[in-house]
Formats: sequence, structure tokens, C-alpha cells
Amino acid sequence: MDDYLKEALEIVKAQASVRNMTEEEITSMVVKLAKGIRDIAGGGVVEEADTATCDPKKAIKEKSITCCECGKSFKILTKKHLGTHGLTPIEYRAKCGYKKGQPLACKALARARKQKMTEMKLWERRGKNKAEKK
Ligand SMILES: [Zn+2]
Repeated sequence: MDDYLKEALEIVKAQASVRNMTEEEITSMVVKLAKGIRDIAGGGVVEEADTATCDPKKAIKEKSITCCECGKSFKILTKKHLGTHGLTPIEYRAKCGYKKGQPLACKALARARKQKMTEMKLWERRGKNKAEKK
């Protein structure tokens, strides 16, 4: 993404040097160009990665979760990473159509986490029972 932005900036800079452009014009031109360049570049990239980028339903796999914004795969989609796209986990879930409680982690990890939570709850309960027996 950064490369596309850089490339777009170079083009716009060249444009801005030969004619007067308002800040707004420059900004919208950079955005438009970056998107265009990315689309063109994306067309040549491996198809599998491309579809993964657009389909949130297929993004969460057993051992990886694909970021629907940039198409990169992780074990956990962190708040920090989503922040680089200007999104919070809540906004990201909404954008991708995930349920509110959808863990932003690969299936294996989400399952392990759930299991740990259950274990912790069991421990809590056990502790309570002990206390009650006293
Ligand atoms: Zn991303």
C-alpha cells in the first residue's frame, strides 16, 4: 500500500509543479491514483490472495486469519494492526460483516482461548464450592 501511495505522490507532485492545484485536488488525486495503481497491481498478483482479501468468510482459517484490508495473514489480528488501516476491531468487524463477538484470531487460537476461559470459569466455580463447604 505504501508503495502505491508513494508512486501516486510522485505523479501528483509532478502534476502540481506544472499547474496550480488546491490542497483538496491534490489529496483526492493522490487517493484516486493510489487506488488505481493498487487495482492494476492487484490484477497481476496471485488470485488466491486477492479473493481472500475480499471474502471475510474465508479470511478466518484454522491456522491463520487474513486481514480483509491488506490481505496479510496473521495468527491474531491485533488492535495495533487494524489501527494501521484506521480501524478499531469493532469497526473492522462491522466492515467485514462479522458478528460482534467474533474473535479476530485464527480458529485454533480462538478455540484455545475459549477453552482457557472455560477452564478459568471451572476454577472459579471450584474455588467457590470450597469456600461454601467451609
Ligand atoms: Zn491489514
